[in-house]
Amino acid sequence: MKFRCLGSGSSGNCYILENDSEVLVIEAGVPFMIVKKALDFNISKIVGVVVSHSHGDHAKYVRDYERNGVPTFKPYREEIACPLSVNYGGFRIKGFRLVHDVPCYGFYISHVEMGTLVYASDTEYIKYRFQNLNHILIECNYSRELIPEDAVNRSHVMTGHMELQTALEFLLVNNNPNLRSVVLLHMSARNSDPEIFVAEAKRAVQCSVWAAEKGLEVDLRLMSF
Ligand SMILES: [Zn+2]
Repeated sequence: MKFRCLGSGSSGNCYILENDSEVLVIEAGVPFMIVKKALDFNISKIVGVVVSHSHGDHAKYVRDYERNGVPTFKPYREEIACPLSVNYGGFRIKGFRLVHDVPCYGFYISHVEMGTLVYASDTEYIKYRFQNLNHILIECNYSRELIPEDAVNRSHVMTGHMELQTALEFLLVNNNPNLRSVVLLHMSARNSDPEIFVAEAKRAVQCSVWAAEKGLEVDLRLMSF
């Protein structure tokens, strides 16, 4: 199973989990055409798309999937009775509530080829602890230390998104011998430093750590490298 980043951050989020026959899309925040091109126009591989919340950088293009008959999982539409779990192809997906300024959900995803994975963005923190995770995809938006004390938008920046120390605590609490990969998501253009964030995360866990950027590909294998 391969993880691919087609966009991460406030300009548009989209990640795919892909094997030979199936693709699960996480977030519909980049144009559908970019996803089609990434899949060599083989869109029949897409078994579904899961979307965390209604903000444009995550949900702007969800209608394009619906128009093309792709099943969409949008638990944030709380006005519509929606089950909190769904199976798309070989992917088993469960939604869990996050802490953002609009209803927002993270996803616990399992597949026989990759084991278990948690995806969480955008959120101030995660209330839950998970057993035996194999992969963690987690927002690591900013560092308090990188925001100037006098920044006029300081409190706005610090609301609804995950600070480095909070992400590190989540990694420490969910670290386990079967953890294989960590990808840090949705970094702020101004208030983050991918190199420092990755180095800090590597001190919290014993597995490989990446910063999500357009074009990143990670093999989500279950066995050790
Ligand atoms: Zn958001």
